[in-house]
Amino acid sequence: MATPKYHLITLGCQMNKNDSERMDAILAGVGFVSTDVREEADLILINTCSVRQSAEDRVFGFLKEFAALKETRPELIVGVTGCLPGRDRDGAIRKKMQTADLYFPTADVVQLPRWIAEIRPELVNGSDIGEDYLKVIPERRTFRQGFVTIQTGCNKFCTYCVVPFARGLEKNRPVADIMGEVRDLAAHGCAEVTLLGQTVNSFRATDPSQFSSGNPYADHFAALLWEVNQVKGITRLHFTAPHPLHMTDEVIDAMTLPAHLNYIHLPVQAGDDEVLRRMNRRHTAAQFLDVVDRLRARIPDIAIGTDIIVGFCGETRGQYLKTAELYERARFDISYTARYSTRSGTAAARAFKDDVDRDEKKWRWRHLQEIQERIVYEKNQAYVGKTVSVLVERHESPAPTDEMLAMPGNIIENLARLPGTCLGNSREMKLVRFPGGKELVGQVVDVKIEKAEKWILDGQKSSLS
Ligand code: SF4
Repeated sequence: MATPKYHLITLGCQMNKNDSERMDAILAGVGFVSTDVREEADLILINTCSVRQSAEDRVFGFLKEFAALKETRPELIVGVTGCLPGRDRDGAIRKKMQTADLYFPTADVVQLPRWIAEIRPELVNGSDIGEDYLKVIPERRTFRQGFVTIQTGCNKFCTYCVVPFARGLEKNRPVADIMGEVRDLAAHGCAEVTLLGQTVNSFRATDPSQFSSGNPYADHFAALLWEVNQVKGITRLHFTAPHPLHMTDEVIDAMTLPAHLNYIHLPVQAGDDEVLRRMNRRHTAAQFLDVVDRLRARIPDIAIGTDIIVGFCGETRGQYLKTAELYERARFDISYTARYSTRSGTAAARAFKDDVDRDEKKWRWRHLQEIQERIVYEKNQAYVGKTVSVLVERHESPAPTDEMLAMPGNIIENLARLPGTCLGNSREMKLVRFPGGKELVGQVVDVKIEKAEKWILDGQKSSLS
């Protein structure tokens, strides 16, 4: 029998991507290899996201496509996992997914080999995966950057959010497991680690005795940041997503340790206290701005990103303008802005009406976008003439110009002589572009910035860091 193949589709956030790396490890462990070609897969697995309706709609689009594949290859196994089955308590969504042979929340992925074996025993050379999927060591696609989940689920129950239903209540991983994973990444040459959790800075260690005796912090998340800072080779550390309530002075202090990136993604969602209350965000606009002020007092040039929802149930134009005002005051570097849409199963869907007109939502979104673009352009000018440290993530070959096409000789050879373009993020998570060869991918490089646009800084390499 030929080696069984699987095709894994990952939608959504970094945590889903990290879960997919665990799914890769489980499937590799029972003899599967990954394929990019759907037509040749024995198993197609969709790791779904449920945060927005559009992400759920994509799953139905995929299933339609796979139903057609199954007509010619009825033995194809189609699986749906991730947040969507997690939040589908009454099975109403499952009923609409007849193409799926397997349908299970993420934590049950450890059962996947057994379920595949029940359908097609010839595909699996069985293995006992154990009970806890977070114990599975992720199969890394790249070792220069590693995502480490430190917590799953959430206790906050923001009224618009499906996460506490899809992923359950907050569950923290043991420090020993987290640090084992970080050390393993460092041993494989990883330079950058991102710690993941839904409210990552509410982390409470189940095994605090694992913190080193010299660790100066009482706050468990700050203590964890300190531990990661001690791991040789990890030179770039950050985390996502923190909750403003848990931004203690100790956490901010730990962000001044050497490995920490000069960036934080700190969701605010709205700038009006009444809207924040209905969202159950548990903080006011003033409390959020206090966190921003404390961050900037300790780390003056820190870049700050956020998440904002415009047009939440009952939000008036005046209340939205408070969000715009807060944006101007906080001078964020980036905002991932969403127009509110009802998510079934959430408290907001039960308690409130999605009553902000679609055009009004569009106007607010555009208005905020304009503020964002103006502020980030202004802020980015401060980088011109400065040198930033960049982890090169990808390389683009030069495109052939008309001049080059007219030149004598082999076009491929002519192109190969040109260095092309390197792209990567600075420590402020600004996208940086500079001329360079593909051997720089994975390296940390100093780049002197010559020109700053809204979403990209252009410069020249000055040295390897
Ligand atoms: S903090 Fe709120 S928005 Fe974030 S995952 Fe928890 S419930 Fe959802």
